[in-house]
Amino acid sequence: MPIVRLGDEGRWTNYHGTGTCEGATRFALRSGDAVRGRDEIAIAAKSVQDWLKQAAAAKRRVRPLGAGWSPSNVNISSQSWLLHTRRFNRCFRIGAGDVRPGIDASALMLVEAGALVDEVSDKFEEQGRSLWTSGAGNGQTFAGACATGTHGSMIARGGIQDHIRAAQIVTPGGVYWIEPGAGVMSDAFIAGTGSAVLRDDALFAAAQLPVGSLGIVTALVVDSVPKFLVRPIQNLRKVDCAALDWLAVGNFRRFSAAYALDRDPDFVQMIVNPYKPFKRPAMLRFLYCEPWREDYPRATPGQLGAGYDALSLLGRLLNDYPWARGPLLQFAMKQGYASGPDVDAPTVYGSWGEGLDTHRPLADLFNASVTIDRSDLARAFERICAVYAKHGGSTVVTVRFMERAQGLLAPARFAHNAVIDFDGPRSQRTADAYARVVECLDVEGVGFTRHWAKSCRLDAARVAADYGNDFGRWRAARDRLMPDPAHRALFGSEVLDSLGLTC
Ligand SMILES: Cc1cc2nc3c(=O)[nH]c(=O)nc-3n(C[C@H](O)[C@H](O)[C@H](O)COP(=O)(O)OP(=O)(O)OC[C@H]3O[C@@H](n4cnc5c(N)ncnc54)[C@H](O)[C@@H]3O)c2cc1C
Repeated sequence: MPIVRLGDEGRWTNYHGTGTCEGATRFALRSGDAVRGRDEIAIAAKSVQDWLKQAAAAKRRVRPLGAGWSPSNVNISSQSWLLHTRRFNRCFRIGAGDVRPGIDASALMLVEAGALVDEVSDKFEEQGRSLWTSGAGNGQTFAGACATGTHGSMIARGGIQDHIRAAQIVTPGGVYWIEPGAGVMSDAFIAGTGSAVLRDDALFAAAQLPVGSLGIVTALVVDSVPKFLVRPIQNLRKVDCAALDWLAVGNFRRFSAAYALDRDPDFVQMIVNPYKPFKRPAMLRFLYCEPWREDYPRATPGQLGAGYDALSLLGRLLNDYPWARGPLLQFAMKQGYASGPDVDAPTVYGSWGEGLDTHRPLADLFNASVTIDRSDLARAFERICAVYAKHGGSTVVTVRFMERAQGLLAPARFAHNAVIDFDGPRSQRTADAYARVVECLDVEGVGFTRHWAKSCRLDAARVAADYGNDFGRWRAARDRLMPDPAHRALFGSEVLDSLGLTC
């Protein structure tokens, strides 16, 4: 039996301590030792379905858990049965005979839902392959990261969920294999997973980003690209506000030439101090992709410029000395960031996975974002910083870039997106300042969406307005997958119900 119960009923708190499940009965889904992945996930999916039926009989809701990283509390449900998936984490190669004609099996991997992004990345790299994007950290589970549309700042890519080619999902009513209409895996392979096949574009697009509301994801088929090297450049530079115009039209080359290398960058990130963002140096990070070669000099994640945790360690100071917020933030930026390789430092390289950092839990983290149409950047960004600073926001402000991401509920829904993050120490003042940013964007008619995993302050009406027809299509797909309202309600929670995802 791959599901084991963990201790007595009690409390469970998520990674950053933003939410606690009271009266939680905890279970863990664990990997087995089957030789073939399809056999293993068939056994696991059957156990999960039985477990769901037992939870329903016990009149308890259920909540699958990845790494528990989401601060928006989409991973919190009290008086519920929790299913930890972290130890359900094997990855399997896919054979040429397991896919439909025309599909390149060597690019694909069968991934158990609890495998960390880090583990999936390592497995691919062992095979000469790579993920093409991911978030700034890599300690989320693959299913958990996809569930909320995790993204980084690869300028020509979407979200991490774009890697998904097929998903196995379990509900009380069945075990399903969900793929796009054109199909990916062979019928024999799918039969071996113990799943009923559903080849349907809308259902697949719903399942790519399910926000924990479409059943339990037990396995994913994940796509990859050939392994590549990245060269990072990281520096502190005073940025001319005219550069916002270049970024807004996607002229990343000009931005790179001005502040790093005169080459087309593949990744661009700018972290500013909202207190005078263009008078104080910003922290810039660029990545330039190059073809893979074995003989590059190895570097540590630190040498590759991964992570910027120092920014989050200022909590109390920023709250207690409001008049010094601007200089304090700048001090933290310098301490936390100046060490990256600048243009005149010896060149360092890493694989995609080597440039990502794992993470330590940060108590009292504040985490929020808005995703806007990149073309609105020039008119919106200074306004956002001004409003945020005026109302006492005490975090740096990060701008990342991405293309439209897959999944009906992907927040990156514009053709070209600028994602503006407010990450740092938690305080009521910072939360209020973020709320004023949201108000200001509404008043000024700037369209935006919010990250499902972050402090999103959304409700069902706003979700419906933000996602329009796609929200209707997502709900219709959900109802086809789970026609019985009692099954949908099994996955409900205070947060997910309020977002209109589970009721
Ligand atoms: C330090 C840190 C850095 C971050 N960096 C970034 C970043 O760079 N970019 C970005 O976009 N986001 C970022 N995030 C947000 C993070 O990527 C998301 O919170 C992500 O969803 C976390 O994955 P998880 O495995 O912890 O999922 P959890 O938080 O455990 O779960 C997320 C949701 O998915 C559901 N779920 C999990 N597993 C399953 C499953 N097997 N089946 C069905 N539902 C499931 C849960 O019930 C919940 O609703 C960051 C968060 C932190 C804490």
